[in-house]
Amino acid sequence: MELFDKPLWLKGNLHTHTTVSDGRCTPEEVIALYKGKGYDFLAITDHRRSVAREDPDMTLLTGVEYDYELPSEVIHIVGVGLERASSPEEDRAALSSPQAGLEVIAALKGRAILAHPAWSLNGPDTIASLVGIAAAEVYNTVSNPPWNGERGDSSGILDVAAARGFPVPLVASDDAHHYDGDACQSWIWLNAADASRESILEALDAGRFYASRGPRFTRIAWDGGTLRVECTPVERIVFYSDLPWVDGRVQTGAGLTTAAYRARLEEHFLRCQITDRAGNSAWMSPLDLR
Ligand SMILES: [Zn+2]
Ligand SMILES: [Zn+2]
Repeated sequence: MELFDKPLWLKGNLHTHTTVSDGRCTPEEVIALYKGKGYDFLAITDHRRSVAREDPDMTLLTGVEYDYELPSEVIHIVGVGLERASSPEEDRAALSSPQAGLEVIAALKGRAILAHPAWSLNGPDTIASLVGIAAAEVYNTVSNPPWNGERGDSSGILDVAAARGFPVPLVASDDAHHYDGDACQSWIWLNAADASRESILEALDAGRFYASRGPRFTRIAWDGGTLRVECTPVERIVFYSDLPWVDGRVQTGAGLTTAAYRARLEEHFLRCQITDRAGNSAWMSPLDLR
């Protein structure tokens, strides 16, 4: 099975803030910035409030970010692709609990993304408890220095959730607020029939996307036993699963462009991460082998 069988690759960011909440640039400035960097789609996801926008040259997904404070963690859920802007009543209802937020996003025909789980101190139980999550941020730009500590990378916690039976598709997002280096750093490549909102949401639902901060997967194929990847030149290709140790998980070298991994019977999920010379990664979503 080829994971990516559509003609078009679209680059997009699914998590961005503007002056509608606590971002430092106006929506118009943010749209112009991402458009100028070659993005095909963008979701503006201000805190607790959504605004529907159109742009002639870029697909805009109406979005919002709902946040919840729990005793030992926070939960931030981004909704993208809403069919319209949420009303103040819907926002109030959504903020009553994470599950209520997921229900409001679903009622508005949006897709829910768990934002920055490592930054939020989310555990696998939290991830398992959220019914209706379409994806989680494996990487979040602004959860890193100089804006935060070093909690941008959530791959460890998402692997634990996957090992416990809750594999979640992976996206990378900027969560840009400051616009002093936190924009246009982490994105997804989406394999779609065209750049319409409907096709973007269809590709999200079908899992035809991967997270990246630089390198690209050009092919991912799974035949039921072996996972094959092809990519732009990288220095490291790693196959992660729920087995702590397997031989042959890692390949290193200059200019690697292909690798294959034969799954063991004991493995319940499998994903590949590639890392280039500059240290930037791309992450495919975990395959559920159960
Ligand atoms: Zn957040
Ligand atoms: Zn945010």
